[in-house]
Amino acid sequence: MSAQKFYTTYKEFLAKVFPDFKRVRKLPLSGGMSCPNLDGSNGKGGCSYCNNKSFSPVWDKASVSVQEQIAEFLPRIRRKYKDAGILAYFQPYTNTYAPVERLREIYEPAFASNEIAGVAIGTRPDCVPDDVLELLAYENSRKPVILELGLQTANEETLKVIGRGHSVSDFCEASSRAHAAGLLVSSHVILGLPGENFRDFERTAEVIRETKMSAVKIHPLHIVRGTRLAESFARKEFELLSFDDYCKAVARFIQIVGKDVAIERFSGEAQNETLIAPDWCGDRNQIVSKVEEILSTSL
Ligand code: SF4
Repeated sequence: MSAQKFYTTYKEFLAKVFPDFKRVRKLPLSGGMSCPNLDGSNGKGGCSYCNNKSFSPVWDKASVSVQEQIAEFLPRIRRKYKDAGILAYFQPYTNTYAPVERLREIYEPAFASNEIAGVAIGTRPDCVPDDVLELLAYENSRKPVILELGLQTANEETLKVIGRGHSVSDFCEASSRAHAAGLLVSSHVILGLPGENFRDFERTAEVIRETKMSAVKIHPLHIVRGTRLAESFARKEFELLSFDDYCKAVARFIQIVGKDVAIERFSGEAQNETLIAPDWCGDRNQIVSKVEEILSTSL
C-alpha cells in the first residue's frame, strides 16, 4: 500500500515549497551560536538527552564563517545532486540566539546565495522574540524560511524533568506568532521519554496538529554518550521503548496529526560512536515499513 495513503512525506512537502526543483537537499550549517539552556541564561547543563555532537555534522563549526561552510560543503552535495534545490539548515544549538543585527549578518550568506533555495532554522520556543520574527518575515520574502521549533513532548512535567526550560504554552504561543509572521513552522518530538506512556504520545501529536505544524520529526528516545540521560540509563532508572512499541506509537501519532503535517523523520540520527541505545534507532527503512504495516492493518 502506498505511503501517500497514510501520511504526507517530507519530500512531498518540499516539492510544494520548492516547485522549481525535483529534489531538495539540506545543507547543514552552524551559525556559531550557543543555547540559553546550556550557557546558564535559562538553564544549566542543557536538556538531559542533548549532545549536539550526536546529531549535527557541523556541531564543531562555530568558529567557521557561514560563507566558508557553504564554500566547503555545497560542492560535496553538488557532486551528487547537480540540480537539487538546496535548503540551508542552521542546525546545531539554538540558531536564533543572538541579537537581531548579528542574526542578520549570520544568515546573510545563505539568503544572498543564488545556489540556496530556502533556509531552515532550528531553535527553541523561548528564543523567537518579535524582532527576530520580523527579521525572519523579511528574509521569508527573499526565499522560503522554515522555522523549526522543538517541542519534544506535550507533558509539562516531563518538560521539567528533562530540563527543556520552556512550557507547552511557550511552544503554542511561539508557533502562533511565527505563523502570524508568515513563516512555515515545523517541530520535533521524542516518543518514549522517561515516565511517559501511550497517552502522552497521543497528547503530543494532538498539540502538533493543533498548532498547525507543516512538518514534524519524530524520534524515539535514544541515549547518547555525554548526557545526563546516559547516566540515568546506566543506573537503570528507566527503560526504552521496544522497536514494536515505538512503531505502534509512531503509527498512532501519524493517525492523529493527519496528512496536514508532513513526516520529516521516523527516527533519530545519532552518529554511531555516540549512540548507546537502542541499536535499532538508525534503521529507518525497517521502522517506516513496520509503521506502514501497522497503519495498513488499522484502517
Ligand atoms: S535546546 Fe537544543 S541545543 Fe539547547 S540543550 Fe536542549 S537540545 Fe541541546
